[in-house]
Amino acid sequence: MGARIVTFANQKGGVGKTTTAVSLSVALGRRGQRVLLVDLDPQANATSAVGFQPDEPTGTYDAILGEIPIADCISPVENEYLHLVPSHTALAGAEVELVPAMARERKLSAALADARNDYDWILIDCPPSLGLLTINALTASDFVIVPVQCEYMALEGLSHLMETLNLVRDNLNTSLNILGVVLTMYDGRTRLSQQVADEVRDHIETTFNTIIPRAVRLSEAPSHGMSIFRYDPGGRSAIAYDNLAAEVLERAGVAV
Ligand code: ADP
Ligand code: MG
Repeated sequence: MGARIVTFANQKGGVGKTTTAVSLSVALGRRGQRVLLVDLDPQANATSAVGFQPDEPTGTYDAILGEIPIADCISPVENEYLHLVPSHTALAGAEVELVPAMARERKLSAALADARNDYDWILIDCPPSLGLLTINALTASDFVIVPVQCEYMALEGLSHLMETLNLVRDNLNTSLNILGVVLTMYDGRTRLSQQVADEVRDHIETTFNTIIPRAVRLSEAPSHGMSIFRYDPGGRSAIAYDNLAAEVLERAGVAV
């Protein structure tokens, strides 16, 4: 059947999209899954978080707009045993360059078609907007995972995101499903975190049981170009993301 394709989306910045996309990619890889991580954010945070930093990598921009075969846009990430389609700043222009393109919402889907048989999972990290790049990701995907930060106003913007998902489902991709909402940056010492977690659970049935704690180690790891599984193996954040991987496999119907 080919890879299951998952988009990490939330138009809010700083909610844990990239951290979750990267950590889950590595967690799934450690569980024997073949994973391709696609960095669709011009800020290239996922690309640098796994320690990949050539100046002008052939990557997502070339796959979407340059009509370069996806195989030529994939790089192995040696320290994480992962394959990556890297991003760089040229992708910032894609949002505009895509506007006049034919089938502009389906460019990424078309690009990924040739990679689908080589992986079990393709995970797409999105920019903090609901523009054409995110629409491309949603159009290409089977599932969406929505990271939600356990902070004040956590639910703000989620109804707009849900409307966008419905529009994509109605017009571009009928097989798009929400795999779940994942609560991030949970601080068990604060009542606010607990309140937000309860509120999100009350509103959104698909909220994962696993909660990602707020942890300094998780914020430090990207600056070392390492996933949490290398930076703090066995720590509570790595354990949390491994638990999330187990839940994701179970929800997607893969035997754990
Ligand atoms: P997004 O991709 O949604 O903008 P990021 O994953 O980049 O969000 O996270 C925003 C910032 O918060 C980053 O500096 C990241 O390292 C940090 N961060 C993410 N998750 C956690 C966490 N659970 N605990 C502490 N810091 C985190
Ligand atoms: Mg990000």
